Amino acid sequence: MLIKNACLSGLKRDVRCTGEFISEIADSLEPLLGERVTEANGGELLPGLHDHHMHFYATAALQRSIDCGLRPAVALTSNQSPLPHDTASLRHLLAEYSGDGWLRGVNYHESIAGDLDRWQLDALVSDRPVRIQHRSGKLWTLNSLAVEALDLTAHTELAGIELDDRGIPTGRLFRLDAWLREKWGQQDPLDVSVLSRQMASFGITGFTDTSATNTAATVRQFRQLCDEGEILQHAYLMGDDSLDFGHLKILLDEDNLPPLNELEARIRRAREKERGIAFHCVTHIELLFAIAALNSCADLDPHKQYTDRVEHGSVIFDDVLPMLRALNLSVITQPGFLYERGPQYQQNLTEHELAHLYRHRTLHNSGIKVGLSSDAPYGPLNPWQVMQTAVSRQSATGEVIGARDCVSPEQALAGYLSKPLAPGATVRKVAVGERADLCLLSQPWQQVRGDLARALVVFTMVAGELVYAADSL
Ligand SMILES: [Zn+2]
Repeated sequence: MLIKNACLSGLKRDVRCTGEFISEIADSLEPLLGERVTEANGGELLPGLHDHHMHFYATAALQRSIDCGLRPAVALTSNQSPLPHDTASLRHLLAEYSGDGWLRGVNYHESIAGDLDRWQLDALVSDRPVRIQHRSGKLWTLNSLAVEALDLTAHTELAGIELDDRGIPTGRLFRLDAWLREKWGQQDPLDVSVLSRQMASFGITGFTDTSATNTAATVRQFRQLCDEGEILQHAYLMGDDSLDFGHLKILLDEDNLPPLNELEARIRRAREKERGIAFHCVTHIELLFAIAALNSCADLDPHKQYTDRVEHGSVIFDDVLPMLRALNLSVITQPGFLYERGPQYQQNLTEHELAHLYRHRTLHNSGIKVGLSSDAPYGPLNPWQVMQTAVSRQSATGEVIGARDCVSPEQALAGYLSKPLAPGATVRKVAVGERADLCLLSQPWQQVRGDLARALVVFTMVAGELVYAADSL
């Protein structure tokens, strides 16, 4: 493929891709016999974006779910669907989704239309299987067609299946997610290709799935989906202790921290497999605990090849910065949360916390590497929205949080251009010999940088293959 008249850092260039790689860049290149030629019309050609922290399956699942309530996390965004206040509204909401397969609702709360069971759901939808998850995440309610599809009457011995006086399943299932996921995998397989194509339309050519529950089986699933072309991007996975590679994801919860020696043992076992560690740290205490755990293993790996990571680093106080530097920890941040949750943060956090929330520029300036990411589905997936928020630190409703941590558009972009295993380090470039993971914007960078949220991706290539092209191409 020959890309004519692309803008590369202010210069008009022709770029040739051969196989998976960029093979030539020059002022002008002539097409080879039979070579596909694409006119870039002066748009900026960038390396493809890498989302350093997201949950791919959860995002795909949520995308095709019906939001049955007002989710606190996104309650303040402008495109919120209307809140159903009663049974009629809920029926109307469910009826808006046409088709005959499974319907999947999430985020239900009894304040919407009371406690649900299979018979109440039947009154809302009786011609297709429906399952609705309670906002707490602990309870799924199924209508009768769904109860039959899962053959619940044959599994009444399972503790989470609620039965009525007659021993008939009520359609209410408590804490049976693992069992249900397997059942639904057969009944209602998740189509991930829609999400992957949407990501391609944003210019995303790679992502890191940071789910702590990823196992060897998950890795096999991802490989298969990539091989089959369902997932177009390069997928990197971290996961649980059983994996032999990829970062070990450690979830820390301030209210329920594990004994330090247990954590140390997990880290040592991971190090034997030469795995890096990724700590989910939202609070100051969690971050201090992660640092203590890593320090307790400091005798290991003087020549380590991997980067340990702090996921989120939502609140980082100044006294922690030297410790992060000493351990060469990267911070994987999500400015998108400021966009979606800004007013909630302003309401719920102290001034001191707000001043140290999702830090960015001040981390850079302290010599700490910062990678950017969405944390989708919990934060907004669109990397251009995330980058613009990194620049403006502005919520959807206009509040600016922590203005001293605003970064330049170039720094924001760099957060998505670092290598998957070295977030925040060297920025990938459009250069001969590099892999042809590319995204073409409709305008030169000098015009795009004024408002990244309005950036338009014209096409996206992964390893030399065109995986997305806007209609105009
Ligand atoms: Zn996450």
